[in-house]
Amino acid sequence: MRELPVYAYVKAPELDGVHVGSHPVVVVGAGLTGLTLALDLARRGVRVTVLDDDNTVGVRGLASRGMVWARRTLDILERLGVARAVAEKGVRWDVGRVLCRDVCVASFTLQEQTDLRHNGFVNLQQYYLEAFLVDALQREPLAELRWLNCVQDVQQTDDGVTLHVQTPDGVYVCKAQWVVACDGAHSRVREAQGVRPQVFDQTEDRWIIIDVVLRDVQWPEERWTWLDARSNHGRAVWRHKMADDTWRLDFQLRPDEDPAAAGSDAAMRQRVWDLLGERVEFDIAWHGVWAYRHECLETFRTARVLFAGDAAHLVAPFGARGGNGGIQDADNLAWKLALLLRGDAGETLLESYDIERRDAALENIRQARRSARFVYPGNDQSVVLWRDAIMALAARHDVAARMVNTGRLSAPADYPDSILAQHACPGGGTALPNVVLHRNSELSLHDLLGPWFTALVFADALPADARKDDALLSWVGVAAHCDAHGRLALARQLGVQMQGEVWLVRPDQYVLCHWAQDRVPTELAAWVRAVLAMDAPSAHACTAPIARRRGSHVAAAAR
Ligand SMILES: Cc1cc2nc3c(=O)[nH]c(=O)nc-3n(C[C@H](O)[C@H](O)[C@H](O)COP(=O)(O)OP(=O)(O)OC[C@H]3O[C@@H](n4cnc5c(N)ncnc54)[C@H](O)[C@@H]3O)c2cc1C
Repeated sequence: MRELPVYAYVKAPELDGVHVGSHPVVVVGAGLTGLTLALDLARRGVRVTVLDDDNTVGVRGLASRGMVWARRTLDILERLGVARAVAEKGVRWDVGRVLCRDVCVASFTLQEQTDLRHNGFVNLQQYYLEAFLVDALQREPLAELRWLNCVQDVQQTDDGVTLHVQTPDGVYVCKAQWVVACDGAHSRVREAQGVRPQVFDQTEDRWIIIDVVLRDVQWPEERWTWLDARSNHGRAVWRHKMADDTWRLDFQLRPDEDPAAAGSDAAMRQRVWDLLGERVEFDIAWHGVWAYRHECLETFRTARVLFAGDAAHLVAPFGARGGNGGIQDADNLAWKLALLLRGDAGETLLESYDIERRDAALENIRQARRSARFVYPGNDQSVVLWRDAIMALAARHDVAARMVNTGRLSAPADYPDSILAQHACPGGGTALPNVVLHRNSELSLHDLLGPWFTALVFADALPADARKDDALLSWVGVAAHCDAHGRLALARQLGVQMQGEVWLVRPDQYVLCHWAQDRVPTELAAWVRAVLAMDAPSAHACTAPIARRRGSHVAAAAR
């Protein structure tokens, strides 16, 4: 991509006095989170309006910003029909290397076997992913994208939400039943609602991204991180390949370094040459300085306004947990909101969004803070000593090499404390691995899932008493779709042996529960409805322990 796309501004009908009624869902912000959410909602039959203050994707030019997309994200994008475009355009990588004192002290290969549909990670500039999501959304008749629509104020009333929106044609007022704030780190919606995040920390650590286009360099397509590169004054460097022969280089700045001077053409070129060890030709696609902080809202919902993505939580990029986390927020919220609007679930279901995704955000923050302390110990002498000792030992001792923490990469969140998992135990609250079932047809487990809940029966035939499909629940016999490799892969990944076990899977590909064949509730569809309405006795019984546990997650993130 040489230039970012520019999307057409269209005057909102409200500005011409057209009565459009209350929008079922307004999503504020067409970034990764808002676009994913809107696409998912539209696919689920919900009319959705997206308001964005800009008319393009990405930020400030061709900024790569986010670029590492995790397997869980690829599974979600697969469900939304965007994964193929991402995989084809992006660079898949499985090998990561960590260097201390310019010596490789650790390497890892992610998921070497071929059991799963998506292995490892795909690197792709965030603006490409956003553009693919916009393309998909523009094909959805139920989705309306309003560019150059800047939300200025948001007020809640008893029956809905009122938004004041600034456009090139003036300000209009629109009403919504539900608003989801996906408007990023400086969320205007958050401010308008008087909600403030808990700030865990903010450091002086600053970095410069230099995205370079290198055509004649044969570097392996691997993730390399130097903790103390000689070429960068003993400070850290990240190196990733992205699309269009572009390499993303992140250089940690010295504490006394002037970011403006570091961003001069001559200084950037010298930095890249020092890393390469030779004066090769290259183009600079983009550069920018970044810093980071960790923060999280105390609740992701205030009545009819929900918060997702960077508007709800902020995390350092170590581990690629920000954008991946926002996409997973969208994945978690869309089906809940859709079922609520269809009248198939009570509002309590939204509490599970708050609990599940806030716990996930706090875990991401906990992980990222640990990495950040290692990468930038600051003036904390005990951490400096500990880090120096690990680096000195890392080249010779595996134990020390494993302690070098340049970022633990994004992994799918588990929801053990969810009101849904509590109700539906055992085995609930983990993402269902997308196991390849059939090599020739490339069919995988997620392809068998229906739009809402799916009872996966691991047996050669459906049990005689399997109920007919219901509007909310489909039954699928898995064995009929497997070849021999698929059966082995299922045994390896899920531990199932085709002996009739039934796994109940949520619309977001998370396991709600699994049972031996003779233990499945007799009226499973009714049982699912009871879970959604939260009116089953065990759902109520678990509310108090959850409230207690939430405190412990905050404490863990703060450590
Ligand atoms: C250097 C760096 C590297 C990163 N690397 C990774 C990575 O490799 N992987 C990863 O997963 N994450 C990464 N991240 C994090 C990732 O970029 C963010 O988490 C992600 O962009 C969050 O998406 P979002 O949609 O929640 O918010 P945003 O991307 O900030 O989108 C918010 C949208 O809301 C719009 N908006 C704002 N205010 C208004 C308003 N008042 N009215 C209407 N619209 C509004 C904005 O124009 C924007 O389109 C990185 C971040 C940085 C800074």
